[in-house]
Amino acid sequence: MLSSLVLGGAFALTLAAGYALAKIKTNCGKVQPYAGRYKFCPGCSAELVEKDVEGKLRKTCESCGFVHWNNPLPVAVILIPHRDGGFVFVKRKKNPRAGYFALPGGFVDPFESALQGAIREAKEETGLEIEIDRLLFTSSPTGVNEVLMFFLAKTVYEQPVAGDDAELCVVSSLNSLPGEVAFETHRQAIIDYMLGIPRA
Ligand SMILES: [Zn+2]
Repeated sequence: MLSSLVLGGAFALTLAAGYALAKIKTNCGKVQPYAGRYKFCPGCSAELVEKDVEGKLRKTCESCGFVHWNNPLPVAVILIPHRDGGFVFVKRKKNPRAGYFALPGGFVDPFESALQGAIREAKEETGLEIEIDRLLFTSSPTGVNEVLMFFLAKTVYEQPVAGDDAELCVVSSLNSLPGEVAFETHRQAIIDYMLGIPRA
């Protein structure tokens, strides 16, 4: 009896440890998508080495001088109010957080403005041609190597149609979503907007 309890406990611990590891891996993939992954210089293919550059260890190329600064990536996120009430949400098709609900959005493409990125992402994921009302606020949570820009769209009247990496689109209030919200930053952004809480 005692041994089976011990074994059971050990099994549970192993499971918990495995889960924790998986979680860390998932978070790493999300938090710093490229951190530590570059082995070779994208400019000249020489091997990168870690060196102190301006007070921090950064991957650098001793051959051509390339420095991998690993700056936060810009993400455009859009609150799209719908005539039927609530906002347009997408059910995510891909990880991170596949199967969870999020506001439409994504990484800003090279050389496009964040505003253009917001309009493009909304079109790709929801099929909606939106107009931007204004930038609500930015968010750059500690440990997440991204700068999120939350835009407010003008109210839309058409029904969204899921596309790109959205599995499904729903028009819903935050509380009536048929599933969990993918990101705390999105949930908080909606609440702050609804309550009129000013953000930096
Ligand atoms: Zn190089």
